[in-house]
Amino acid sequence: RFDVSAPGLSRLFSHEPRRILRAVENVSFTVRRGTTFSIVGESGCGKSTLARMVVGLQRPTEGTLNFRDIRRADGSFGPPRVQMIFQDPYASLNPRWRVGDIIAEPIRELKLRPDAQSTLQRVGDLLEVVGLSRSDASRYPHAFSGGQRQRISIARALATEADFLVCDEPTSALDVSVQAQILNLMVRLQKEFGLTYLFISHNLSVVRHMSDDLAIMYLGRFVEAGPAEQVFTRPRHPYTRLLLDTIPDVERPNRERKPMSGEVPSPIAPPPGCSFNPRCALAVDRCRAERPELRRLDDVGVACHLA
Ligand code: SF4
Ligand code: MG
Repeated sequence: RFDVSAPGLSRLFSHEPRRILRAVENVSFTVRRGTTFSIVGESGCGKSTLARMVVGLQRPTEGTLNFRDIRRADGSFGPPRVQMIFQDPYASLNPRWRVGDIIAEPIRELKLRPDAQSTLQRVGDLLEVVGLSRSDASRYPHAFSGGQRQRISIARALATEADFLVCDEPTSALDVSVQAQILNLMVRLQKEFGLTYLFISHNLSVVRHMSDDLAIMYLGRFVEAGPAEQVFTRPRHPYTRLLLDTIPDVERPNRERKPMSGEVPSPIAPPPGCSFNPRCALAVDRCRAERPELRRLDDVGVACHLA
């Protein structure tokens, strides 16, 4: 059972005839219903482009997104309703609207409640669901902290009766302690409403405890993808290991941590062979000549000649 499957998805941009930017190149994935699929990579790896394709803000230049129809508790049947949660809750909420109107807008637009009274009731319920209070409906976004604003964004997404949330770095702009609160909220909402998440992050530790499936992205491609538990406990791609090395380890606080070295190369002129080779400590001649395809090892796909 899946909400979306995407075989061979690509998004190429060409600003000039011979400068093609391969933002996303031949990426395939399946997001299972009611689970979290996380995509992790450094900035510029194509993960936001991928998220924007899933919500329909950008069209793939190759490949398709297949959404499977679902039957809901209310008897309706159709493709999952997809909503996006953005990184910056400051920019995504209209500062001139009261929070109640921000959340009520999709309810009115989609005619999800028959009258003003039941819309108001629904807005109050949603505020409580995300840990705010009903009286917050009459306040403006500026009166709230970053974490509270992200709660408002989530309430607005739920107001559409979304089944599937695409979350692009939803906690990156927040303090660490607030991040944890928002992640816990998202985990609770997923259980309560059976939501499906596509969760984008540059930070492997953020997604560690909430991911069912995990893909590591580098320069527009998946370099390692599979069940999150397997990727975390037995990372096989040198880039995944490098990302894991930068995570603070609570059990071994004095462990020597290798800093991430080198820059991500330009996606317009990726290095030949394995695009990770300029930063890879294990690179051999073959890595500079031949691009590794994603191969299956157990349940995990790995794109590395040495895996
Ligand atoms: Fe490193 Fe070679 Fe594997 Fe690429 S293919 S990750 S350069 S060992
Ligand atoms: Mg981004």
